[in-house]
Amino acid sequence: MDKRFNKILVLAPHTDDGEFGCGGTINKFVEEGREVYYAAFSSCRQSVPKQFPEDILITEVKAATKVLGIPPENLMIFDYDVRTFNYKRQEILDDMLGLKKLINPDLVFIPSLSDVHQDHATIANEGLRAFKWNSIFCYELPWNTSQFNTQCFISLSESNVDTKLEAIAEYASQGHRPYSSSEFIKGLAKVRGVQSGNNYAEAFEIIRLSI
Ligand SMILES: [Zn+2]
Repeated sequence: MDKRFNKILVLAPHTDDGEFGCGGTINKFVEEGREVYYAAFSSCRQSVPKQFPEDILITEVKAATKVLGIPPENLMIFDYDVRTFNYKRQEILDDMLGLKKLINPDLVFIPSLSDVHQDHATIANEGLRAFKWNSIFCYELPWNTSQFNTQCFISLSESNVDTKLEAIAEYASQGHRPYSSSEFIKGLAKVRGVQSGNNYAEAFEIIRLSI
């Protein structure tokens, strides 16, 4: 991976999207000594299963990003209500412009522009606006997209994939989701690996590559 990408910012609509979309790549970048920042825009208090405390996703994202190797001071959590991001578009854009000023990232990860979840679509579109001069890659969440252009593959070691699984396992409150299955996550990493001549990989859409 290009050595010029030293500061990487992951924009996650909800806590856990970044881990699902690019957890292996985050772990690889941390191992390579790059600075990785993670911003989540909602801890989804309104949709936490009843048996868990309302703020469980804050506890879980702290644990999961720690597993991936992100320093605690590089984790930022905003508190927008789940499924209402489109009503707060301007505030979200302002928060992103604040992140841009604070971090000045070389590479930004966002959800796919074809992601159908309304919050994901807002983060993708505002991300494009806020970081209009930066390199931008979209991560893959196959349960939310009917098509995804695999324009970029980032190879992963088995250890990167296993660390991604460990990070996702920290989300006990989300364990019921079909896409939390380790068989699915490792299987997709294998598919992307086979497609790109690697053992394992994650795939990305390239929106802009600025070198
Ligand atoms: Zn999400």
